[in-house]
Order: sequence, then C-alpha cells, then structure tokens
Amino acid sequence: MDGNLASFDVCIVGGSISGNYLCYLLSNTNLKIIVIEEHEQVGLPFQCAGIVSQKLSRLIDLPKEIILNRVKTAKIVGPSGVYIKLSGKEEPYIIDRIGLDRLFFNKIKLNENITYIFGERFKSFKYVRDNHQKLVLIETSKRKLKAKMLVGCDGPLSSVAKSLGIKNKNLYATQIRIKGQFDENEAAMFFDKRWKELFGWIVPEGKRIYRIGIASSKNIVNNFRVFLNRINLNMKQKIDQQGGLIPFGLMNKLAFENILLLGDSACQVKATTGGGIIMLLIAAKYAANCIKTCFKQKNFSKKTIKKYYEIPCRSIIGRELKTHYLIRLFLERFSEKDFEKLFQIIKTTKIENHFSLYGDMDFPKALLFQLLKLPFVISFFFKFLMKNPELLVRLLLLIFFKVEVES
Ligand SMILES: Cc1cc2nc3c(=O)[nH]c(=O)nc-3n(C[C@H](O)[C@H](O)[C@H](O)COP(=O)(O)OP(=O)(O)OC[C@H]3O[C@@H](n4cnc5c(N)ncnc54)[C@H](O)[C@@H]3O)c2cc1C
Repeated sequence: MDGNLASFDVCIVGGSISGNYLCYLLSNTNLKIIVIEEHEQVGLPFQCAGIVSQKLSRLIDLPKEIILNRVKTAKIVGPSGVYIKLSGKEEPYIIDRIGLDRLFFNKIKLNENITYIFGERFKSFKYVRDNHQKLVLIETSKRKLKAKMLVGCDGPLSSVAKSLGIKNKNLYATQIRIKGQFDENEAAMFFDKRWKELFGWIVPEGKRIYRIGIASSKNIVNNFRVFLNRINLNMKQKIDQQGGLIPFGLMNKLAFENILLLGDSACQVKATTGGGIIMLLIAAKYAANCIKTCFKQKNFSKKTIKKYYEIPCRSIIGRELKTHYLIRLFLERFSEKDFEKLFQIIKTTKIENHFSLYGDMDFPKALLFQLLKLPFVISFFFKFLMKNPELLVRLLLLIFFKVEVES
C-alpha cells in the first residue's frame, strides 16, 4: 500500500458534539487523531431545541454561559387541547448548543497530536494490510489517509454507518426561534396523530425567545403550519429557522473491525423526545475507554470493541433507549380519548408524586416500574393493549426475542 499517505491512529468523522467530545476525551493520550468535518465551522448550522437534563453538569464540566435558561414545568398537551403539567426535582437546562459544540473543540484545537480538517467529506473506506496490520484506508472528498481506527460521529445520515450497511430511520424536524409571550419556565409538548412519532414543542430559550418546532416522518411543512396555527403564533416576531433530522428507533450495532459508531450515527437517541446529547456523552466515555484499551492491547478487532464499547453501552443506555422506544410505540397509538383518560388518571390520583420522585428525562425505566405497580395504571394499559393486539405482539417480540417488526 502507498507509504506516502498521511497516517493517523484515530480518524473521527464529524466535528459536532459527539466527535468533539470523544476527541477531547482522547486528547490526554499520545494518539494521533484527525477529525474530518464537512462544514466550515464547528456548531453550524444550528439544529437543536437544546433541552437537556441536569445530568449534563454531572457528565461534563459545564460553564455557566452555556446555560441560557432552566425550565420548572413540562406541559403535555393532548390532541384535544386537554393538558397536564408535571414538575419534579428535575429542572432541565436550555443550552447554547453552538457553544456546547465549540466548548470541547476550543479545549483541544491547539493540541499538536490533533488535526481538524473542515469543508471536507468522508466518502468511503476499505480495509488494507500494512506490515501485517489491518488498517482502514479512508477516502474523503479531497484526499486519502490511513488510520488504525475509524469512528463514525457523522450524525443521522452517517456515511460511515452506511458503508457498514447500516441506515438510520430518520424523522424530519423543523424549528423557528421567535420572540413571544409564552411561559419562560415551561417546556410544552403538543401531541397529535399527524406527527405521532414525536411532538410539537415550545422551549423557552430565555429573554422572551422561544424555540418552537416539530418532528414527524412525513408532511413536515404542512404539519408545522398546522401546529403554528394551533398555538396562535404571530410570525412577525420570527428570528430564524432551522431544520434537521432525528434518528428514530433502537440503538444500532456499535462495534465493527477497527470501527465504532457514536451519537446520532448509532441512533443513541431517545425515541420519546428525540434528545441525543446525554446518551452520546455517556457513550463517548465508553468509546474513549475502548479506544485507549484497543491501543494498549494493540487489538482493534470487532470482538474487543464490542467488549469494551458496545456491551457496556447496551447495558447502561441501550436498555433505557429500548424503554423510550416502547413508550413511543404506545404514544403513537394513543387516541384523543386515551390521552384524556391517562391525564385524568394522573390528575385524580397521587400519581404526580411518582413523576417527581422517580421521573428521569433520560432513564425512564425506574418510573415505569413504579407506575406499573399501581392498579389503575395496570388496568389502563391492559385495556389499551386489548384494543391494540398488534402492539402486544410487537412488544413481546421486542422484549423477549429482541425482534423488531415494522408497523
Ligand atoms: C431540530 C432538532 C432538535 C433537537 N433537540 C434536541 C434537544 O432538545 N435535546 C437533545 O438532547 N437533543 C436534541 N436533538 C438531537 C441532537 O441534536 C443530536 O442527538 C446531536 O446533535 C447528535 O450529535 P452528533 O455529534 O452525534 O451528530 P450531529 O450533531 O448530527 O453531527 C454530525 C456531524 O458530522 C458532520 N458530517 C456528516 N456527514 C459527514 C461526512 N460524510 N463527512 C464529514 N463530516 C460529516 C456534520 O456536518 C456534523 O457536524 C435535536 C435534533 C434536532 C434535529
């Protein structure tokens, strides 16, 4: 093989939050790292509602400037307009997402072992042998290079994942930032059959600016118009508009020969909210540990990557992501009446306390187990499953046989 090609230990594709954070976690090693980012600047284009649980400040050293606001209440609005308000110990942050992406980049950009290249696209890779060692030969839009390990941090449409035969199922998302008169302390979620895979949201950025958006699998432009009419928005105060994709489903395979996937490329995204930041930060710590171990053991096999990255990830976040997905399968099938009935149960019982005590935006399993101990909740879900037998079959296949059936 061509000995003149630039050679790296690790090649990270994607210089957004997962790529930058992983690179930062590896920056205390002697590994020679290259990050390939197709855009010209870190953090742009901005594509996020920026609502993240307080775990963020436990996972990373979070500067105050990144936190723009905090919300005390979650307002959940059913299709008929009936709603409940939930509040608990959790007061999620509304973050400066561009700032978060740049935080780690700024910490490592002068590190002599780290090279960032912007405005360049990863195109493909193939395995090659060099001195009896298996390497990855990477082709970008401008050059070829070789690396011992390749990490796909290249988001929902990941080209690295595609090269491995993995294709995410994505939702379309659109959002505006607008001056408005909503509650500054409240994040609102609007459910509707037309955008059943997620919801419409109003997230208060602070200083009377709101991030208002929606995600759905189809008719996004029309659905957004319907949603904006529903909340009576005066568009004269619009500041800007963003769009993006949100991966939807269960977490992908993460480990391959010399290669791993992280973040949206691996579908490490909560199917209930579309949030990916907390999950990918947790996964990045395992990814960094795995990469360090691979270099220590000089072993880049799929088996080693699975042992030190995929298996711990599955047990810590994979199961929770599955729970999010199961909850989503229920919500997708909820009718107006089901939402009303559930809200009624929540309002007329002491169930709200369960949300304050056990509620966790990222890890819903504990709350779910507690709720499923309550007879009126069991009765609601039993009746719901009897009305939706195909869902029952799908849940059983998913839980017991790990088989996913498309609806
Ligand atoms: C509208 C919207 C709202 C959201 N709101 C929230 C929220 O409130 N809370 C939350 O936690 N999450 C939210 N998310 C999800 C969150 O933004 C993602 O989970 C997170 O950005 C994933 O980070 P990532 O680094 O894995 O991927 P991305 O942020 O998608 O970054 C991928 C990077 O790879 C680059 N890239 C892609 N392909 C290539 C290539 N071939 N070559 C080189 N570079 C490439 C891209 O330019 C990009 O910089 C939202 C997403 C959207 C779209």
